[in-house]
Amino acid sequence: MSQPNSARFALKSKRVLRGGKFEEACVLVEDGIIKDVITTTANGTLPSLPAGFAVHDVGDKVVMPGLVDSHVHINEPGRTEWEGFNTATRAAAAGGITTVADMPLNCIPVTTSAAAFDEKLRHIEGRLWVDLCFWGGVVPGNTRELDRMVDQGVMGFKCFLIHSGIDDFPNVQRQDLESAMPVLARRGVPLLVHAELDHENHEHKPHVDEPRTYKHFLDSRPRRWENEAIDLMIELCRKHNCRVHIVHLSSSDAIAAIKKARAEGLPLTTETCPHYLTLAAEDIKDGDTRFKCAPPIRERENSDKLWQGLQDGTIDLVVSDHSPCTPELKHMEAGDFHKAWGGIASLQFGLPAVWTEAKKRGISLPTVLSWMSAAPARFLGLDHKKAALAQGFDADIVVFDPEASFVVEPSMIEHRHKVTPHEGRRFDGRVCETYVRGNKVYDNGHFAAEPCGKAMMRNKLGEKVDANINS
Ligand SMILES: [Zn+2]
Repeated sequence: MSQPNSARFALKSKRVLRGGKFEEACVLVEDGIIKDVITTTANGTLPSLPAGFAVHDVGDKVVMPGLVDSHVHINEPGRTEWEGFNTATRAAAAGGITTVADMPLNCIPVTTSAAAFDEKLRHIEGRLWVDLCFWGGVVPGNTRELDRMVDQGVMGFKCFLIHSGIDDFPNVQRQDLESAMPVLARRGVPLLVHAELDHENHEHKPHVDEPRTYKHFLDSRPRRWENEAIDLMIELCRKHNCRVHIVHLSSSDAIAAIKKARAEGLPLTTETCPHYLTLAAEDIKDGDTRFKCAPPIRERENSDKLWQGLQDGTIDLVVSDHSPCTPELKHMEAGDFHKAWGGIASLQFGLPAVWTEAKKRGISLPTVLSWMSAAPARFLGLDHKKAALAQGFDADIVVFDPEASFVVEPSMIEHRHKVTPHEGRRFDGRVCETYVRGNKVYDNGHFAAEPCGKAMMRNKLGEKVDANINS
């Protein structure tokens, strides 16, 4: 079923997404690269194609660039029982995502040193169904590792301002950032920040009363924590002129401060996630810990404001923050929000979830793709080769049926575990086929015989890097 990488083929559709709009066209692929895009002439006919291109006509299904997800916790090595390179990237391919960036936790060892990054790279060979890049971590005391990890090829660094949930990835204090940010600014790489500040150290007080009550959990991580953390990061961004990226924004109260900082010209970017955009606290049943994440899913009114922030360009991108664990760690039987692991498993369903809600709000598919493909590619510095159907770009292509609908069932889930808050939801938009550099890796529920994903290193983006880079 898979196309050999050297194959020449043409994907033809009445709806090819180019430059923010649909047109009837044929995308010519050769050696994994888009060789050309041939559009219809003024009289509505497609010019004849060059010889040797087998034509695959998908009718009026949408042909569009693959998604780029810059926030995924793959957890390998060390916590592969939670997720892994093979299962996570299969789920990505099934979800129309052709490039993923892996977070520096919850793997063991955490990716906070050059040696730990080397070790991670030893686990990827033969396991990547899509292309993959990596974030390193900033933790107290590892400033001298940062340059080394940039030299190795990480895209930038993640830090926490609050306990990460993983004891070997401690959160930073202001003084740690004062030491790390000048290094990152000099290297031109972003600092990704989990922005919650708990001045009262509330989180570590025992919650003995009503641990099943969602409202109680929501109140335990107030918007104020995010707002204050973001204010601090804006101040440090200004002081060090270091790229700062706020991950998984949930508090819409912080949008005004972000907007002001950007108007000032600060190098600040922001993401939010499908769960904050498509789920609401009012609908979460007490004891349903599948919905637990940090910061928490807030009220519907908050979600409306996040949509506005995306539409006015204050929030740049939408990525999954896929952060699964074993089902036991969700403590579903007890339904205890305080004991349960905080993380949403959603990688495979981000696009249909967001598209379903966007459609209700009158937002177009090209706009959704700008948030889930072009913007994260730009953020990762991949926009010269990914996330556009244009000559010379990687042939990372998705065939998508925006009108088809389906119900999320455990049997279709490619994540290692089937636990997701999206189970049972009906979504519009079905991923039909996914191509990674011209290889058809996913075809209507079936996968290619072999994975073909590659690691991408920031310092080698001009060239292709094999997954077995370290062997
Ligand atoms: Zn995360």
